[in-house]
Amino acid sequence: MYCESQVAHIYFGDVEHIRPKAEGKYPHLEFEWTNLGYCCARCNNAKKDQFDETCPVVDPYSEDPGTHLLAFGTTVRHKAGSERGAITIATTDLNRPELIERRAIRLTQLQNALDACYRTSSEAIRATLLAALKEEGAADKEFSMFAAALINANQPDGAL
Ligand SMILES: [Zn+2]
Repeated sequence: MYCESQVAHIYFGDVEHIRPKAEGKYPHLEFEWTNLGYCCARCNNAKKDQFDETCPVVDPYSEDPGTHLLAFGTTVRHKAGSERGAITIATTDLNRPELIERRAIRLTQLQNALDACYRTSSEAIRATLLAALKEEGAADKEFSMFAAALINANQPDGAL
C-alpha cells in the first residue's frame, strides 16, 4: 500500500495498522477494517508504530496518493507544501536504495516497450501496444505511479 511493490509472489505480505495497535496508541482499532492495509515487510518495519493525527501518512485506500506524492525519475517526491507527503516518504522509507533500483529496472522495461511502440510503422500495431502499455500504469501494477509518469511524459498530448 505504500511502495507499490508486488510482494505476494515472494511471501504473504503484512497487515499494516495505519493507526498503530500498540498499547497507548490505538489498540481499539486493531481489527477495524478501515485501519488495515496490505503492506510489504520493509515498509511495515520502517513505519513501526509511527502515526501523527495532525499529519497522517497518506492512506491510498481512502485518498488519491497523487494529491501528496509524485514520481520523479526513480524517486518519490512530495508535492510542494505537502507535509503529509513528506512524512509518508520519511515514515515508510520510500526512497530506500532497493526500491530505487527496482523502479529503474521497471522504467527501463517500459522505455523499451515505448520504443517498440514509436518505432513501428504500423498504426495498428502502435495502437495495440499503447493500449497494452496504458494498463501498466493501472493502480494494481508494480510501481504504477512511476510507470504512469513515464508513459504520460512520452505522449504527444501529455497523457494517454
Ligand atoms: Zn512496501
